[in-house]
This record gives sequence, structure tokens and C-alpha cells, in this order.
Amino acid sequence: MKIGFNYPKLAGRELDYIRQAVENRHLSGDGPFSKRCESWLEAATGSARALLTHSCTAALEMAALLCDLTPGDEVIMPAFTFVSTANAVALRGAIPVFVDIRPDTLNLDESLIARAITPRTKAIFVVHYAGVGCAMDEIMAIADRHGLVVVEDAAQALMTTYRGRPLGGIGQLAAISFHETKNVISGEGGALLVNDPGLAARAEILREKGTNRSSFFRGEVDKYSWVDLGSSYLPSEIVAAFLYAQLEAAEALTEPRKKAWQTYHAAFQPLEADGLLRRPVVPAECEHNGHIYYLLMPSLEERLALGRSLKARRIDGPFHYVPLDTAPAGRRFGRACGDLPVTHQVADRLLRLPLWSGMDKEPEIVAAAVIDHCLGNGAGA
Ligand SMILES: *Cc1c(COP(=O)(O)O)cnc(C)c1O
Repeated sequence: MKIGFNYPKLAGRELDYIRQAVENRHLSGDGPFSKRCESWLEAATGSARALLTHSCTAALEMAALLCDLTPGDEVIMPAFTFVSTANAVALRGAIPVFVDIRPDTLNLDESLIARAITPRTKAIFVVHYAGVGCAMDEIMAIADRHGLVVVEDAAQALMTTYRGRPLGGIGQLAAISFHETKNVISGEGGALLVNDPGLAARAEILREKGTNRSSFFRGEVDKYSWVDLGSSYLPSEIVAAFLYAQLEAAEALTEPRKKAWQTYHAAFQPLEADGLLRRPVVPAECEHNGHIYYLLMPSLEERLALGRSLKARRIDGPFHYVPLDTAPAGRRFGRACGDLPVTHQVADRLLRLPLWSGMDKEPEIVAAAVIDHCLGNGAGA
């Protein structure tokens, strides 16, 4: 039996809702299922306006447009993130300025932000890695002091909180992903959360190809036309119907992941106590969503060795991420603030374990394999 890294989990009513969407005869975007998804997201995050998009990448691109980034502007962000965080900024001709991460949560190190700010800095894009919140109080305070916009890349952070507040609802803007590998899915999909109500009208226009079509449908104008920049960022109702079934079951999809996460966490406690590896750190003010379980091995060599042991037992153990500051496009479009020692150490040492909603005995099997490996009981290969 192979234990893969991730398997999509259906909530149950996806096909029912898709059938309803087809019977509604409204297949393009912004139909009844899109509206239900958006209301659900607004209620769950406290956001003033949620807009479904076809990916988190698209939502980040919209956020970059809403920040009015122009060539040469700078945006502070971690290099330990998925490419979309930086790409959205680079597409506007702005410069991703990479700042190191905290060794505990692997999130942007708030103590390093101030020194990265220049007169060209416009925004801070934070990433809540593994659904564990950044130090949002400190980050929002720095942004306020310098007049910067905060965009939360909350791709991994649906159903999480920071000091009791839902992540994705704190910065002026946030982007969520419903990609198949996330907790709540629609294959490809995402949402932009507009928490600053002053940005909502423009966000609707950007998403509707630069037209005021949303106002037109609400009867606020008698015809719609090209009024601003924009693109097509709407998902179809078929995707929204699938997503709504998932959102309704968000709690039921999240709980089993947290349980599997806990199984891993308890199993590895003795190894951490013996200094053989390090487990994820979740600060007391953060409630996570079991999105990722990772291990930090003592070195690159030991991470590679663990990966080989798992592979020999047909268990997936991918790493995360190739740091953006040294990636070819990161060098071309971005700039690092220092040499980011934590980012590069973590990228060498981090290994993710299989985790999905609906795991059965797999967490025990995987944990036993890791423990065997670490205690030198052989990998069987
Ligand atoms: C998954 C992910 C994205 C991209 O999401 P898509 O919906 O695939 O575009 C962006 N940022 C982070 C941190 C992610 O984990």
C-alpha cells in the first residue's frame, strides 16, 4: 500500500449541488451558488466582502492591483512561500523584498520588517504557513505606522484564528485557496477577502474584466462599460456549487486533519525531547487547521535520508519551499533583505508528512516509519 501525500475528500453533496447549478441554467459566475459561498466566507471571517476567484493566485493578483502597485514599488514578504505571493507583485512591475522568517512558526519575522521599509514600500504580504497565524498585532501596527497595506496570503488558513479573530479577516485584503491540496477544495479555486470596505467597489470591477457589470446587475447603472483595469477572475457556478458543498462541511473536513496532526504531534514528542527532530510550533494565540504536518530534521542530509526511508516504504514525504530569493525569477524580480539564514535552513531541513481529511491508520503507520528511521531500526531498503 502506498501512502500518498494528499487525497481530495468529498463532503457528500458536491454532485447534487452541481446538478442544481445545471438545472438553474446559470453556469457562468456570480450565480446563486457563488453568492452562497461568498456569504459563507463573510460570516466565517468577518470580511466586509468576499469575492470568489478561480484561484488564490488570481486573488493575490487582484490584491496587487488594489494596492495600486507601480513599477519600482516594493512589497515586503517572506521568501519561504509559494511563488504566487511574489508573482502577483512582480506582474505589476513591483519588487518583492524578501525578509527572513521566524524559526518557530516559519512565518514572516515581524522584528525584521521595519528595517526593510524604504520610501518605495507600499505593502506587506504575509503568509500564514501551515494555517498558523503570523504575529498580526505587531504587523498591523508596523503597517499603520508606515501607511502600508497588509495583504494576508491566507491560502492555507481557512478555519484558523489569531487571538480569537479569524485569519483572512485582519489585513485590508486576504487571499484564500481552494486548490485540491488545501483543506476545503474545488479543484482549482480561491477567494479574495476585502476587509477594507473602501476597496470593495474597485475589487468587483477588477474581477469583472474592468467593467462595472456588478453595479449593472444590481440596477445601480443602466448600462455597463469598461471603467478600469481588470481581468476575468470569476469561477463558474459549477465550481461554486462544488465549493459550497465543501464550505458547508468545512468543520467536518477540518476536524479529522487536526486529529491526524495531533497523532503525529504526540508520536514525535519523544524524538523531539531526544533532539532528533523538531516539531511544528503553534503559539498559544493561534488556532490552526491541521493543514500541514512537517518535521524539521537536524540537517539537509538527515532530511534526505528520512525521505529515502519513507520512499522505501512507499510513503510520500515532500519538502517545502525552494526559497524565492534564490530561485531564478526571484533573483531577477526580487531583492532579499539580508541573506535569510532561517529561510534557507528551514528549506533544507523541512519534510512534510502525508495529511488529508479521512485518514484512517495512516498517521500511525507513517509515525512508526519515522520513529524507526530516527532510532536507527532500518528502513528496509
Ligand atoms: C496554495 C497556495 C497558493 C496558491 O493557491 P492557488 O489556489 O493554487 O492559486 C498561494 N500561496 C500559498 C501560501 C499557498 O499555499
